[in-house]
Amino acid sequence: MNNENNYAKFIGINRHRINRDGKGVTTLAAFYSCPLRCRYCINSQCFDPNIICQTLTPKMLLKKVMIDDLYFQATDGGITFGGGEPCMQSRFIEEFHRICNPVWNINIETSLNVKTGHIAHIAEFVSQFIVDIKDMNSTIYQAYTSADNNLVTKNLQFLAQHGFQDKCRLRLPLIKGYNTFSDIEKSKTLLTDMGFYNFDIFEYKISK
Ligand code: SF4
Repeated sequence: MNNENNYAKFIGINRHRINRDGKGVTTLAAFYSCPLRCRYCINSQCFDPNIICQTLTPKMLLKKVMIDDLYFQATDGGITFGGGEPCMQSRFIEEFHRICNPVWNINIETSLNVKTGHIAHIAEFVSQFIVDIKDMNSTIYQAYTSADNNLVTKNLQFLAQHGFQDKCRLRLPLIKGYNTFSDIEKSKTLLTDMGFYNFDIFEYKISK
């Protein structure tokens, strides 16, 4: 059943991304709002109360992104939800998935720092979770994001227990002034022990 009251705010919709955040050609739909405050956030508009957002229902978003249906079908692409934190909008994403072309991939760029109910709501149909782990060390995480990572660990356990490791690409950044390659290796070991194997290790680019 469609829910016309299922509105969400978006800070941007970015078309024709090729093999950047999911397979094939994707459109990135970036939600407003994020529970974290990362020191080097590059999307700070997602928590700026003065930003002008697009407010859309799933049906309205579908109408906007439908223009690339043939690209998505030809390249095994689809939609990537980012932000901000997309998993806080699990109800919106679930409804979008129900009405969009079923062959489209739905990817999620997330910190996983949300209640597990949100992840449970979308995990079955999501093609890929691109998870910005930051660091598994809770002291480093707290210093960098101003939040604790208990929910991140809980959600990783949920995904592992349900055998969703194949759907997860885990990003392990070197964060200048916060962690080291040795910390990254420790995070990787913890995650490998949980059955995850697809890692993306890189250094955050900091613009000054
Ligand atoms: S999780 Fe992403 S959007 Fe949120 S504060 Fe961190 S970098 Fe910014």
